[in-house]
This record gives sequence, structure tokens and C-alpha cells, in this order.
Amino acid sequence: PRLSNQIAAGEVVERPSSVVKELLENSLDAGAKRVDIDVEQGGVKLIRIRDDGQGIVKDDLALALSRHATSKIIELDDLEAVGTLGFRGEALASISSVSRLTLSSRHVESDQGWQVSVEGQEMTATVKPAAHNVGTTLEVRDLFFNTPARRKFLRKEKTEFGHLEEVVKRIALSRFDIGISLKHNQRIIHNFRPATTEQEQARRVTSVCGPNFIQNAVTVNVEVGELKLWGWVGLPTFSRSQADLQYFFVNGRVIRDKLVAHAIRQAYRDVLYHGRHPAFVLYLELDPATVDVNVHPTKHEVRFRDSRMVHDFLFRSLHRALAEVTP
Ligand code: ADP
Ligand code: MG
Repeated sequence: PRLSNQIAAGEVVERPSSVVKELLENSLDAGAKRVDIDVEQGGVKLIRIRDDGQGIVKDDLALALSRHATSKIIELDDLEAVGTLGFRGEALASISSVSRLTLSSRHVESDQGWQVSVEGQEMTATVKPAAHNVGTTLEVRDLFFNTPARRKFLRKEKTEFGHLEEVVKRIALSRFDIGISLKHNQRIIHNFRPATTEQEQARRVTSVCGPNFIQNAVTVNVEVGELKLWGWVGLPTFSRSQADLQYFFVNGRVIRDKLVAHAIRQAYRDVLYHGRHPAFVLYLELDPATVDVNVHPTKHEVRFRDSRMVHDFLFRSLHRALAEVTP
């Protein structure tokens, strides 16, 4: 089974950033309000994520590392009902098969913490006591130490860290209520405090997108029936290179979608006669039953039940917001 985990790992674990994504999503699923991330050497040497979520009971620790044991999908139909971020029940198993992994946790209802370690193919069967506050710490060391072919594909430390930081930024933008810190080689890179007021949220957007974004952006806030769109669209005066500043969230999940991109670009061109791709941080909220997210675990795809209606809504909302500030 460890070997099949390793093969499966290729699908989920491409590089350090994919590990961070999976671990962060688990922390959020566990109801964490604060997550601290520590990485070394772009995440290749170490990724440590500590959260204050509900924790894992002792008897479930080893189980959490075994493939599919925890899958929340029972039938395909359940895909539509999946509210939490994780649903495949294989991320930890996959990650543990290509790293040296330690999982420590204390469940809310437990008066002590426990720890289990896995090294590549070897699971040390013993679950031993560990000092831990309520919550969970995942420590992933020496990623791909036992899969040299995969290791060869890793880029420079700076590049890997860039990907990893991007994952953290997306979560920071999608969950304003969560405190998140990120350290790289002992240096604090981000320290996002929970943001509840509009002002605090704008501050977080500023620390993710740079100081000029919001000043050179239009605020969007439109609600029609069950559809809601809010966020910011950069004006042509915002001059940072655009491709890296396009965040679109559907019910809190970041996605990339042709239809969405088209609607935004169309509205932008229509109002501003501007050929360049706009920068944006936008949030679309709609009835979860009318959208399929995460068709593939690592791609950020969506399928809208009524894509024409969503396209029109996006186009009209942005058109109106942009037209308001444009003479
Ligand atoms: P999935 O998230 O798809 O269920 P994972 O392999 O990512 O599969 O995680 C396996 C299980 O381990 C989760 O379902 C959850 O029960 C538990 N788990 C993992 N990380 C955490 C965490 N940070 N806090 C609490 N439980 C966790
Ligand atoms: Mg998961």
C-alpha cells in the first residue's frame, strides 16, 4: 500500500506548495482560527504547520495517515454536498509516503497530546505522548527524499517558496477571519491578523496585493437574488504586472475559469476601452447546489449549472461598477 501511496502522491504532491495547500485546507476543515506556517529551504527541507483546530483523537492519528480511510465521499452524488475543502482522504497518506512526516495533535476533549511519525515507507507503529496545545501540528521534512526523480523537478529555493507563498496568499484572501503567519528560514514573511471590519480586510488585501492596488481599484458589491459579487477590480492606473494579481473566489475557493475571465475582460474593455488584462480580487457567492467545484483535486476548476446566467451577472455587475467611476 505504501507504494501505491507514492504513485498517488504524484497527483497531489507536486512540490512544497502542494503540501502547504493540503495541510492548510485540513487546518481550515478542523475549524482552526489561527495557523502558523514555518518553512525552510523553500519548503523542501521543512514545512511545519500548527493550527488551533479541534485536533485529532489518539485512536485516529494513525488512521489519518492511511489512504482513503477518511474519505468523506461515499457516492459520486455526495460531490455536490461536500462543504469542507478536503474530500479525498489521501493527502496525508500521499505526503507521508514521500517525506519524513510527524503528526502531533491534541483533541479538544483530550487532556493530552499524541504524536505519530512516518518515514517514507516506514510507519513507526507507536503513537506516543507529546506536549501539544489543542490543535494539530504537521511537520513534513525532506520532501521527496526517497523519490529522486521527483526531487529533480524542484526549482530554486526562491521559486518554490514563491509558489508556496502564493498558496498562503490565496488562503489569506479567502479567509479573512483566520490569523495566518508564514516564516521562511526563520524570517517572518507574513503575519495576517484576523480581519473582520472592512478596513481590516482592505488592509489584508493591501498586504497581499501591494500598497497601490486598492487605491487604484474600483470596489464592487452587487447582490441579485442568490448571486453576490464583491471585491476590487484594478483600474488601468494600477500598473503592476497583471497576470499575478487575478484572484477569483467562488464560495471561498480560488478558481481559474475561462467563462469568468471572459466576463471580467469584456466588462473591462467595454467600459475602459483597455486591452490589458485587469487585476482583480473578486468574490462570487452563490447557492452551492448550482456549482461544482474541484472537479479535479489539483486544478481550480468550476462548473456552473447555469453558466450563461453567471457570465451575464459578472459582466453586468462589473460593467456597472466600472462605469460609476469612469467619466
Ligand atoms: P481529507 O482531508 O481528504 O479527509 P487528508 O489526508 O488530508 O484527507 O486528512 C486525513 C484526515 O486527517 C482528515 O480527514 C482529518 O480527519 C484528519 N486531519 C488532517 N489534518 C488535520 C488537522 N490539521 N486537524 C484535524 N484533523 C486533521
Ligand atoms: Mg485534506
